[in-house]
Amino acid sequence: MTRLFCQENSEVLRLDAKVLEARPGAVLLSRHPFYPGGGGQLPDRGIVRWHGGEVPVAGFSEEGDAVWIRLSGGIEITGEVQAEVDPVFRQLMRELHTDLHVLNALVFRDFDGALVTGVQMNEDGTARIDFDLPDADNDRLRALEPELNDIVARDLAVEASHVCVTAAQGEKGLLRSRSVAPPPSSEGLIRIIEIATLDRQACGGTHLDSTGASRPIRILKIENKGRYNRRVRIGLRGV
Ligand SMILES: [Zn+2]
Repeated sequence: MTRLFCQENSEVLRLDAKVLEARPGAVLLSRHPFYPGGGGQLPDRGIVRWHGGEVPVAGFSEEGDAVWIRLSGGIEITGEVQAEVDPVFRQLMRELHTDLHVLNALVFRDFDGALVTGVQMNEDGTARIDFDLPDADNDRLRALEPELNDIVARDLAVEASHVCVTAAQGEKGLLRSRSVAPPPSSEGLIRIIEIATLDRQACGGTHLDSTGASRPIRILKIENKGRYNRRVRIGLRGV
C-alpha cells in the first residue's frame, strides 16, 4: 500500500486538495489527511469543504492504492476542496493506539513474548487487545496498570521509521501480531513505531508524538476469550 499522509504527519488535520475523480457520494483527492481505518483503529471522521459548502465524510473505500472518500448524502463535488479531520476523534484514536502499544510492550516483556491476536479501539474511549496467553494469571495482568500510567507520565518519545521486509522479519519482537503483519509499502518497507527505551513494533496507524499526551489509563476488565485468548480492556480516564 502507498504511505498515507497521516502516517508521517498525524498532527496535520487540514489539507487543501484537488478532486482527481468524482462519483456521486465519493471523491478521490490529490491528497488528504485521513486515516481510513485498519489494524483495529477506527476510520477518521471529518468533513470535505468546497466553494458550495461542506459535507461530512461517511467513510473510506480502498481500491488498490487509492483511498476514495465517501461523502454523506450522495453529493458529487469537483474542483478545489479542503479536507479536515475531526480533531477530537483523531486525538482519541492516537491516545488509545499509543496506550495499546505500551500495554503490548509490557505484556510482551512480562509474559514470555506473548503475541497479539486482535485489537479494537472504540469511539467511547475504550479499547481491547487480545493476547495469546493460555496460562496467564489475570491478577498479574491487572497489576500492570500503575506501570502503564508511569510510562504515560514519563512522556517517552514516539517515533516512526521504516525498515525493509527482510529486516523486519529478522528482528525479534518487531512483528507482534500472531496472524497478521502490516502490509509493506509499495517500496517494500514496513513501518515501525518506536517508543523510546520501551518498544519497537510494526504498525500502520496514527500515534501520539509522546506518551505524555495521553490521558491516564485504567484496565477495565480482563476476560478469557476461548482457550488461548486473554482480552484486556482499557479505558481513558475522563472520557
Ligand atoms: Zn500502532
